[in-house]
Amino acid sequence: MHKSFGAVEVLKGVSLTVERGQVVALIGRSGSGKSTLLRCINGLETIQSGRIEIAGEEVTQDKEKLRHLRTEVGIVFQSYNLFPHLSVGENIMLAPKIVKKVAAKEAHDTAREVLQLVGLSEKFDAYPDQLSGGQQQRVAIARSLAMHPKLMLFDEVTSALDPELTEEVLNVMERLARNGMTMILVTHEMGFAKRVANTTVFMHKGRIWEEGPSQELFANPQTPELRQFVKADV
Ligand code: ATP
Ligand code: MG
Repeated sequence: MHKSFGAVEVLKGVSLTVERGQVVALIGRSGSGKSTLLRCINGLETIQSGRIEIAGEEVTQDKEKLRHLRTEVGIVFQSYNLFPHLSVGENIMLAPKIVKKVAAKEAHDTAREVLQLVGLSEKFDAYPDQLSGGQQQRVAIARSLAMHPKLMLFDEVTSALDPELTEEVLNVMERLARNGMTMILVTHEMGFAKRVANTTVFMHKGRIWEEGPSQELFANPQTPELRQFVKADV
């Protein structure tokens, strides 16, 4: 697919297949198009040509379809954007109740479940400002999971966090990966990509420059651009 902002083409023919249960890490320099690609995948951006399909359904700008798509694709950003006036539990139950029309009891049970999954069972009644940044980010992840998505997208979810808080969020993502969640994640954590992602995709100037099994890709970069990028990181 191709994506332009005005006259500027930022994704110049990107082709990517992600299998169910696969974890794909997107890496690359600032401005290479990683966030734009994620945003296109869940229809936050329109594309100029090409197509995107998720579980056999095309991503379009049709309002009904888009609403349905958003129930199937979760996205978590660097900023967690929890509703400050709602408790953790209420934050998590909101979309299932309103968008999916899930009954109160079921929404409640699901919220308990996903909170346990991110290791925050005891925070159901807490408010966002009573939590650390890492805890808030884990609530944001739990909130996405409560929709039972088929695919999770993560855009630098740990970039704003201190190292120890980063670790607890990465642990949650690793657990999700091991549980078989299909995930595409933009990350600067090369160690995490190497360890957890089946495939790593290196983007450069709006193109997929290199792609392969993570261990191999890092051990044996084929292009000077990736070699440079990997070296600059360590
Ligand atoms: P970073 O690592 O800094 O987050 P990135 O790889 O995520 O970078 P993108 O945010 O996808 O990069 O941006 C790719 C290119 O598209 C950049 O040149 C950026 O300036 C441009 N771009 C992104 N969003 C817009 C927009 N809404 N309008 C115009 N240009 C945009
Ligand atoms: Mg980005």
